[in-house]
Amino acid sequence: MATMADRPVRVRMAPSPTGPIHVGSARTALFNVLFARRQGGRFLLRIDDTDLERSTAEDERYIYEGLEWLGLNWDEGPVRQSERLDLYREQAARLVAAGHAYRCYCTPEELAAEREAAQREKRPYKYSRRCLTDPPSHRPTHVIRFLVPAGQKIEFEDLIRGHMSFDSDLIGDPVLVKSDAYPTYNFASPIDDALLEISHVIRGEEHLSNTPVQLMVVDALGYARPQATAHIPLILAPDRTKLSKRRHPALITQFREWGYLPEAMVNYLALLGWNPGTEEEIFGMAQLVERFDLSRVQQGGAIFDREKLDWINGEHIRRLPLAELAARLQPFLPELGGEVVERAAPALQERMRTLVDGRKLLSYLWTEPAPSELDPGSRERLQAARDVLAETEWAPEPIERALEQLRESRGWSRTQLIKPIRTAVAGSDSPPIHHTLALLPKDAALARMERAL
Ligand code: GLU
Repeated sequence: MATMADRPVRVRMAPSPTGPIHVGSARTALFNVLFARRQGGRFLLRIDDTDLERSTAEDERYIYEGLEWLGLNWDEGPVRQSERLDLYREQAARLVAAGHAYRCYCTPEELAAEREAAQREKRPYKYSRRCLTDPPSHRPTHVIRFLVPAGQKIEFEDLIRGHMSFDSDLIGDPVLVKSDAYPTYNFASPIDDALLEISHVIRGEEHLSNTPVQLMVVDALGYARPQATAHIPLILAPDRTKLSKRRHPALITQFREWGYLPEAMVNYLALLGWNPGTEEEIFGMAQLVERFDLSRVQQGGAIFDREKLDWINGEHIRRLPLAELAARLQPFLPELGGEVVERAAPALQERMRTLVDGRKLLSYLWTEPAPSELDPGSRERLQAARDVLAETEWAPEPIERALEQLRESRGWSRTQLIKPIRTAVAGSDSPPIHHTLALLPKDAALARMERAL
């Protein structure tokens, strides 16, 4: 068995465009990119679009869009499997000619009956190989099956799970080419991994059981095996169930709409199954490349924790230069001009966990608050504030000073004074009160207070 030991590092991500790209695929892409960059290797994008019924051009576009948003650029590709069908057919013919594969004419009903019989007799199901000895070759359609060699141990090194060993006698003959003449994943994938000289196959744990099949196919074709595999743990919901697309809408481009920064998303995805071995949690891409190591990826499932993502996003928001923060906020605030957004950015930076929070905190600028009842104490404090503010220079610091003096001279608490002002001017949550006021034109702010009084 040949391997690619000591060849240049080449990795790939191979999504199927059968649904919008989700958190799991994005993390697979990231781990591949980090490994490649760290090792000075190359990252390829392959599109596994051989499932005619389920692949769509739209989902393929989502893959490009998602990776681009995250800044996970590929060095080669995209290689589209649908454009390589002749190649897979030639390889299938080669395997049949060499006796490593055979035509199977069994109908879905016959196969279902075999499976049911196995279930009844409580033995694990394996295809009976009826077509190996006695094929009904007059039938119009067939698939091509791999002839799994008997009595073999299929062994390989997985950089996360360690030494792996599978017994070929437990594996039924897998289909390589479907009746529509398209290759299956377990056939096209190992061919491409070999011909594109992929040195390390880094992918989701759900593919671990496919690996022995793929390695047997590679061996039968006389190709070199990858140097190693790395099967990264599943992503679980907080209740440790599998992350379901329905209950946990986790499409990667949706996070952009929810106000997450791509650098925060990358930071969070890196921590889904990997940790640096220290308490540090905030990383930029360059630091991740420096620190990432597949041997520190855990075997157990990684919990997707939205709270933690929010926290990491807030930390990245606070690290942005103000002009950059304003530019990132602008698409979320189409109601406001660039100048207002720039003035608002410093007031928001400490309070936001997502850019959408910024929108919520500023919505008072274009929506007048609904009137609300004032108790006598609040009325007195609001009236006093209005009178002081009418004489105050309209900028955050003078406003802050004026309110502070008023508060001290009357012996009011901060909340006692600020709450009625905020209710009158903004209605609900808004930036610190001196910013909340200064962001409105002075006459508009005073008018709102008067209306409330
Ligand atoms: N098309 C497969 C998937 O989307 C690729 C798995 C692999 O990386 O081999 O899961």
